[in-house]
Amino acid sequence: MGERIRVEKPVVEMDGDEMTRIMWQMVKEKLLLPYLDMKIDYYDLGLEMRDRTDDQVTIDAARAIMKHKVGVKCATITPNAARVGEYGLKKQWNSPNATIRGMLDGTVFRAPILVKNIRPVVATWKRPIHIGRHAYGDVYENEEIRVTRPGIVELVFTPADGSEPVRRVIREFKETGIIQGVHNLDRSIRSFATACFTYALDQGIDVWFGTKDTVSQTYDARFREIFEEEYEANWKGAFEEAGIEYFFTLIDDAVARIMKSEGGMLWACKNYDGDVMSDMLASAYGSLAMMTSVLVSPKGYFEYEASHGTVQKHYYKHLAGEETSTNSTALIFAWTGGLKKRGELDGTPAVVTFAQKIEEAVIKTIEGGIMTGDLLRLADPDPKNRKVNTEDFIDQIREALEGMM
Ligand code: NAP
Ligand code: MG
Repeated sequence: MGERIRVEKPVVEMDGDEMTRIMWQMVKEKLLLPYLDMKIDYYDLGLEMRDRTDDQVTIDAARAIMKHKVGVKCATITPNAARVGEYGLKKQWNSPNATIRGMLDGTVFRAPILVKNIRPVVATWKRPIHIGRHAYGDVYENEEIRVTRPGIVELVFTPADGSEPVRRVIREFKETGIIQGVHNLDRSIRSFATACFTYALDQGIDVWFGTKDTVSQTYDARFREIFEEEYEANWKGAFEEAGIEYFFTLIDDAVARIMKSEGGMLWACKNYDGDVMSDMLASAYGSLAMMTSVLVSPKGYFEYEASHGTVQKHYYKHLAGEETSTNSTALIFAWTGGLKKRGELDGTPAVVTFAQKIEEAVIKTIEGGIMTGDLLRLADPDPKNRKVNTEDFIDQIREALEGMM
């Protein structure tokens, strides 16, 4: 083997839990460390370490990403009541993803990884549809009241400066019903817009954004206004230079057009739209293990992860000594995404090229018919298709990679 490729600046590594922790280790040992001379700033976000450090390790990891700009994260358990018992936890710790997202103030972007032998359900989709979901406000931070008897519901804004309150009657209830109050912040919408434009320029793709601004002429319209202002003031020139555009339309029109498009755009979605549409896209493209996911902060921090969880069911099989066939593609692409960004920031094209080679090796392996069980169920039938176990899949990728070096 030749010289290892030098990665100039550190990559923040966040280890995780269960089946993904096992695959993460294999990916590092087999696909990365033999080829890269890399400084790793390591944080163990496995549940035991989070518990032992009262979750300080998660905060330290987020701070390290702020310092080094690039992080890669394995999937982690978000404890529920059952996990508190299973791991004997001091408390039901928060989701590390939420903690990190909160500290970096980021937007999550997801995109499918396409292979020729697994076709999207929508036949016209030729290129990935990337989705950017606003992760603040709307129904996720709402107040709700069940109306059980007649009465008046009003929207009241009481200014802190003591000036006259602003009131609107929502409804004079003569019967039972329900009401909901939602909000958003100009600052959060603007940072969402910035993250979307940053991501799209980075990827060289158009931005599509849709809201219901014809009906919601203040709330949804504010999203449109801020995106427009932000685009005109800070992005138009760079977009024109890159040959990409920003396109706004009504959300229902956006959905209709997406279904008939060839893909290849970033679809910016309000919180609820993004929640629903990202699950629709993931399932239409095939498998959770074939999605990339990156948190982009408006301050220029990037955190790459898999969008799936720790694959608990497979882990229990593994613990019971049974063979598993778990797909490491999304974990590998978390590393290659981070390495490509590292190489780009450091001005080291050899690192970028190597990361691209790993990605090609993964795709070549799957397109060659060697795949894990989740993919075999989806792939075009072919006599050469073969289901391999978790470790063999990574070994086969290593072999494909060796063939390309
Ligand atoms: P999951 O880990 O995403 O797995 C759900 C199912 O999807 C699996 O049972 C498996 O289906 C399939 N699957 C997911 N990833 C796969 C892969 N790489 N290869 C093959 N099949 C895959 O979700 P979960 O089991 O609901 O959650 C487990 C833990 O993950 C939870 O503790 C949760 O808190 C955590 N979680 C973490 C993250 C994160 O850190 N980003 C995200 C979501 C969930 P079959 O069983 O049919 O094979
Ligand atoms: Mg959802």
